[in-house]
Amino acid sequence: MSEKSEYPRCQSCEKGQLIPLSDFSNNSVPIRYKAWACTNKECRFFVVLRGGDVYYGTSTKESAR
Ligand SMILES: [Zn+2]
Repeated sequence: MSEKSEYPRCQSCEKGQLIPLSDFSNNSVPIRYKAWACTNKECRFFVVLRGGDVYYGTSTKESAR
């Protein structure tokens, strides 16, 4: 509770926080791609911003491909 609450609370479990994740292409160039993942292990909710579209899911239910 003493941590900074700069990050939005997870809307799925309402316990964890969504933290931003950076992603890099093969050329080590930061690509315009942001993912937010819940800090709650049991939740595993994530939000991905890609090309202006928002994708929701959990790492348990949804496979990458
Ligand atoms: Zn969560």
